[in-house]
Amino acid sequence: MDFGRVRSGLERRGFNVYIASDKEEARTIVMYELLKGVRTLGKGGSNTLKETGIWDELVRKDALEGDDRIELFATTLYKMKGLDPDIALKKGKTADAYICSANAISEDGTIFNIDGIGNRVGSIIYGPDKVIMVVGRNKIYPDAETAWQQLKNVTCVRHAKRNEAGTPCTVLDRCTMCISPKMECKVTSVLSYALPGREYHIVLVDEVLGY
Ligand code: SF4
Repeated sequence: MDFGRVRSGLERRGFNVYIASDKEEARTIVMYELLKGVRTLGKGGSNTLKETGIWDELVRKDALEGDDRIELFATTLYKMKGLDPDIALKKGKTADAYICSANAISEDGTIFNIDGIGNRVGSIIYGPDKVIMVVGRNKIYPDAETAWQQLKNVTCVRHAKRNEAGTPCTVLDRCTMCISPKMECKVTSVLSYALPGREYHIVLVDEVLGY
């Protein structure tokens, strides 16, 4: 994929961009470049991080001792350790850095995210000073309207089905703009420019990753 247009769109909006030809390269950029000096890390739920192997690397780093350790605040890890996952959400907001994917990016460089809890969107907007997003080529859309339609009619539907939310979209396979406490899209963020005081690192991967 030619990332030229989306790259310049993101850079014009103050985001740092890295292009990875595959998941291995993405993993190397994240683990050896972007996480250098990071000691504590918040993480948002992400199939992309699992599929790239970054999740496994982060779990391994969390288990280390000494200066090489990166303490990971992730609900899945906390559950594996028998700890309260809500603590991971809270600590993730004040970690050295935050890692996640993005739900959609339009070619003009606008970043879209939906959230049913708010921890991921909140951490991206006003959480750790350093935010890392790993994004497969399948999440890049020609314009904001297409990205928005995808978010509502595909991404949120899949989240809702996975979490058995019982919202209308899980039956109809499209958004009906429902209003429900089970909505997986209670909040949608549209990030149009890098927010002051924080640095954003967007790793674009030339593979289909996550959804
Ligand atoms: S608003 Fe309701 S129907 Fe639409 S995607 Fe969100 S949960 Fe599904």
